[in-house]
Amino acid sequence: MVLKLVFRALAIFVYFSSLALAQLPQKTDVLIIGAGLSGLATAYQLKKAGIPYHLVEITPRVGGRVRTVTYQTPGQVTLHADSGMEEYWESNPAVKILKELKLPLKVESSASSVVLNQKLETLGQKESVEDFLTRIFTPVEKAAFDSFRAQVGPMIQRINGPHPLPKELMNLKDIALSEWVLQQNLPKRVSEWIRISVECEIGTQWEQLSALDGISEFHIFLGKGEASYRVIGGNERFTQALTKYINPHRISLNERVTRLESKKSRIIISVLNQVTHQNRKIEAKAVVSTIPLYRLSELQFDPPLSEKKWEAIKTQTWGSYFKAHVFVSRKSDRFQTKKAAEALPILSDSDLGVIYDGNPDQNTDTKILSLLITGYHAEKFTMMPLDEVKKQIASAFEQLWPGFSKDIQSVEFYRYHPRAIAGWPVGRSRFDELSNELRIPENHIYLAGDFTEGTHSSGAFKSATRVAQQLISLLKGGRR
Ligand SMILES: Cc1cc2nc3c(=O)[nH]c(=O)nc-3n(C[C@H](O)[C@H](O)[C@H](O)COP(=O)(O)OP(=O)(O)OC[C@H]3O[C@@H](n4cnc5c(N)ncnc54)[C@H](O)[C@@H]3O)c2cc1C
Repeated sequence: MVLKLVFRALAIFVYFSSLALAQLPQKTDVLIIGAGLSGLATAYQLKKAGIPYHLVEITPRVGGRVRTVTYQTPGQVTLHADSGMEEYWESNPAVKILKELKLPLKVESSASSVVLNQKLETLGQKESVEDFLTRIFTPVEKAAFDSFRAQVGPMIQRINGPHPLPKELMNLKDIALSEWVLQQNLPKRVSEWIRISVECEIGTQWEQLSALDGISEFHIFLGKGEASYRVIGGNERFTQALTKYINPHRISLNERVTRLESKKSRIIISVLNQVTHQNRKIEAKAVVSTIPLYRLSELQFDPPLSEKKWEAIKTQTWGSYFKAHVFVSRKSDRFQTKKAAEALPILSDSDLGVIYDGNPDQNTDTKILSLLITGYHAEKFTMMPLDEVKKQIASAFEQLWPGFSKDIQSVEFYRYHPRAIAGWPVGRSRFDELSNELRIPENHIYLAGDFTEGTHSSGAFKSATRVAQQLISLLKGGRR
């Protein structure tokens, strides 16, 4: 057992040392900025197409917003839970890659237990979305919900079809999702269910989102609903598998891109090492930036990026997340009698946000409840001392399950996600002309990253597929 642990520690050391040692090349075909999911997925596709690439990442690790924390206590089993992203919906192009890389996956229903009008409605084990909704809604509410679904279904199909979208759909970008749902005259509990489900996804109030983009987010609840995939052992297993596939020697860590100087047929990239402060130049045929758009202003562009691109970036918004890992004893009576584990995940619009099972694959005495606290609650907590946040979380648990807060052993916070998810306010949409402008390469620069395409990691993977296709047709003359 001890030997096994030593070998595992050694393997991890060698793996990360090899990453740290990757040399910056003087020249490459495609320089990818950022080793989050978008950067790694772009490299994955370029490797398949046989196009040379190199990644530079400002931080000392790969993964970006994907983070899996391991908790080590002497004499106890190491626990793990994600402090960044949690799950992938079925339509996310990531799922295909997860399967190609043969990662172990846990597949769950799109429906979740939900706190509706302060009452927890628990999704039964193996209960279908349809049966769940029939149970929690009255017949009148369910009929109204069905006709709402029948209305948005074809709209979503059209949104996923060829673009540009027809005018009547595009007009929906000029009205807030909240207002549009209100206009449908749905029973209160149905519109509340829609609000909570969408707000938990987008990390912001539904007043802040254009109806067109809000309707698009609703795709996971149509028909039987989309399955949700989680990587057993944590999402960093995915970023590590991607790193291994694309070759760690093609990723340089601790390298900050500071300046992009575009020439006629090439681009010169200035890169500042965060440890040695050496500033070096790389020459490439093209650059893919996966830096979240709101951080692009940290770079110099020579010549400058077009005004339209800047306008698209400045008029975008975002949703915020705040994460907490709550440690409870699985064996405690309260945890058992509240049937807490069976109810997870739970959607709430309280200080608890979405309550996930943080370590679903570990049968340990200690259970981690991973709270994805969203929107207003996340913003409020970001300004608050953590001891106060802990009290408020305990009090929210008391409201959900009286007596439960006594089961909380400790809490760890991950408060650094003020701009976790891309958003489009009233007047803007991911489907409008300005967003399209972002996807047109300029001066050998290709903008990717979740903020260029859609919310969540599906935006990251869609953007990677787009830039990979653009580059394949550029560098291989459209032969592939
Ligand atoms: C708490 C949380 C929970 C989430 N949950 C989910 C979920 O359940 N499902 C889902 O689908 N999505 C979820 N998301 C969103 C998902 O994590 C992101 O959409 C996705 O990880 C974005 O990947 P990316 O590569 O586009 O961006 P990032 O992961 O942000 O990667 C960009 C990279 O660029 C690097 N960089 C920045 N500037 C420079 C520079 N100048 N030079 C070099 N490198 C630079 C950054 O360090 C970073 O590594 C969640 C996000 C958060 C924060």
